[in-house]
Amino acid sequence: MVTTHNLGFPRIGKKRELKFALENYWQGKSDQRELLDSAAALRKIHWQQQGRLDYIPVGDFSLYDQVLDTSFLLGHIPSRVRDLPGSILDNYFRVARGRSANERANCCVSAGEMTKWFDTNYHYIVPEFEVGTHFTVNARALIEQIEEAHAQDLKIKPVIIGPLTYLSLGKSKDGGHKLDLLEALIAAYQTLFAELDKTGIEWLQMDEPALVTELEAEWQAAAIEAYEGLQGRSFKILVSTYFGQLQDNLRLTCALPVDGIHLDAINAKDEIAEAVALLSADKVLSLGVINGRNIWINDLNATLDWLEPLHQLLGARLWLAPSCSLLHVPVDLDSEENLDSNVKPWLCFAVQKLDELSTLALALNSGRDCVAEALAANRALIDSRRNSPRVHKPEVQNALSRINDSMAKRQSPYPLRAVEQREKLQLPLYPSTTIGSFPQTAEIRQSRRDFRLGKLSAQKYQRAMEEEVAHCVREQEALGLDVLVHGEPERNDMVEYFGEQLEGYTSSQFGWVQSYGSRCVKPPIIYGDISRPKAMTVAWARYAQSLTAKPMKGMLTGPVTILNWSFVRDDQSRSETCLQLALAIREEVLDLENAGIDIIQIDEAALREGLPLRKTQWQDYLDWAIRAFRITANGVSDATQIHTHMCYSDFNDIIAAITEMDADVITIETSRSDMSLLDVFDEFHYPNQIGPGVYDIHSPNIPTVEAIVALMKKAEQRIPAERLWINPDCGLKTRNWPEVLPALENMLEARKQLVADFTNRQTE
Ligand code: GLN
Ligand code: ZN
Repeated sequence: MVTTHNLGFPRIGKKRELKFALENYWQGKSDQRELLDSAAALRKIHWQQQGRLDYIPVGDFSLYDQVLDTSFLLGHIPSRVRDLPGSILDNYFRVARGRSANERANCCVSAGEMTKWFDTNYHYIVPEFEVGTHFTVNARALIEQIEEAHAQDLKIKPVIIGPLTYLSLGKSKDGGHKLDLLEALIAAYQTLFAELDKTGIEWLQMDEPALVTELEAEWQAAAIEAYEGLQGRSFKILVSTYFGQLQDNLRLTCALPVDGIHLDAINAKDEIAEAVALLSADKVLSLGVINGRNIWINDLNATLDWLEPLHQLLGARLWLAPSCSLLHVPVDLDSEENLDSNVKPWLCFAVQKLDELSTLALALNSGRDCVAEALAANRALIDSRRNSPRVHKPEVQNALSRINDSMAKRQSPYPLRAVEQREKLQLPLYPSTTIGSFPQTAEIRQSRRDFRLGKLSAQKYQRAMEEEVAHCVREQEALGLDVLVHGEPERNDMVEYFGEQLEGYTSSQFGWVQSYGSRCVKPPIIYGDISRPKAMTVAWARYAQSLTAKPMKGMLTGPVTILNWSFVRDDQSRSETCLQLALAIREEVLDLENAGIDIIQIDEAALREGLPLRKTQWQDYLDWAIRAFRITANGVSDATQIHTHMCYSDFNDIIAAITEMDADVITIETSRSDMSLLDVFDEFHYPNQIGPGVYDIHSPNIPTVEAIVALMKKAEQRIPAERLWINPDCGLKTRNWPEVLPALENMLEARKQLVADFTNRQTE
């Protein structure tokens, strides 16, 4: 008999119940008891939804983040909160978000740093290590959840993050070597194990996704040392890896002194045969055969073709699971009422993925005949998707085959373009601009909601948004900005907005995926070949330009960002999908140009986060991603100025690729780093224009004129003034007007001083 299990389940709830429970609590509208009760109620539902599995995960639920949970489990809590009043939960939220319930922002502590969990869009709170960090295990929260599940008569497998991954994800605050803490960390896990021993659990899942990354020899040795140090326990350990191949960590992982390993049979399928050969006969091999990262149905017949021989070989040692925690997919497809009825049957959210798992297990355990109906239905759906004219569009395929290198190239190199653009645009020194969005006020959001619910006619909605645009333009003219934007009031989201208008895309109602804490994103779904039925932004840009004599910047999201923030097809490569997006956005670029828009910004906010986990694969990604951007942007004439924007400037390691994009102007986030992120320009000569952000839009603070001048002066040490722009870090949509106006006023005042300084220097 094969055993079925799950590595983790979405905790946010199918209608984002956890989000609302958390936000109520933070705002003081509910108390701790109510929050914890809501959490327990959600866990109960989620466990029931996983009821058919042989082992249900426990401990994967979190009030904010599983890495932060691990820090608290290990009693590894930043010293800045240790002596603050209140409960453990208060401190938990202080580290998570800088404050607990009912506390003012920045009143007492700074929040822990947040960063992306491997190559997903989930963000975790980074553990902070120091020389001499010690651990004081407090397993109560975990043990309570185990008891809670036992009380519900569930067969469970608690989940924790393993020591290798925990240590590798943390950051050394004082330059100490993290591996020096290994011994203390192992001791902490031993203490934890002694506690877990008392609960009578049979298995413990220890997540070690760090094993799919490039590990230096000392870290490989640490992995072995850690697990050798965790012997003498009454329960068994399943070490789980996911998101990629183990490569040179495969041998060592298979040799770990544990009772089983889990491999991602979607991303590391090629390694399974070798793992089977390497694994000793007393160990379980869990295969993640259902993709935990996408939303497509599995080809169950094909999966069984592949699994059956393995089952023959492994017998009861074979376990089945999704490839990774289902945290990265929405909860339940059945919640969707408005999804395109042709596409919906091809989709599969967390609950449905577990159904697939049960079907596979039943087929292996009792023969395919037992599930003949389900398999036939699955085959029909796979065939219908494979052959659907909704998916495959010969016109798109033809357009793709006609792509040639000249499409990826501007007519002239940057220096020549710059001359033409200067003549046409007549911009002053340090041209000032913003990144695109202006505050998304409550009124804007209300109009959008009313429009969606049919309470506001299309015409009235259009009128309301036009008024917003006009307001935005007036404000920018009054401020004296040089290059204006329309303000993006009509966009709910910079990706979804395009997804809603492109053919080949659909969006869900409740397809939320946790991004961090209570924040969720709802990635639109690319199911078919992409095309653009009609212009998407031109009317807005044209209208906005009609209101002003200043240049109006057209605003688009680039193909790589659209790709990286969507659920994408699994039946063709990402690079191919990206090219299709590039062609569609290219048409929009050309239409904007024809409509008299002389400056077009193509945001690539998510270029960096698409980088593969292993550095050896970076170049391949950058090659196709940058080419897609160039195809999008480079059809315009020399006099049209192309901007791109990125929400980070931590790109030391990809600066060459960014230069390759050949945008005339690039705007980046730099203010918080005090321009130190521009250090890369000391060694690397960036040839085109740059707008380093001078206004941290993530903070309610208003930057002073002096601070802005100082930032720009720092930038000038690396980039000649003639090639500098002045602008905020990112879009202003999350801020409000009373903050934005004085901040931009200061920015423009700073600009005046910079220009005066510059002129003085010239005349000296
Ligand atoms: N143009 C977008 C905006 O201003 C860019 C957002 C982003 O980079 N995340 O909102
Ligand atoms: Zn940005």
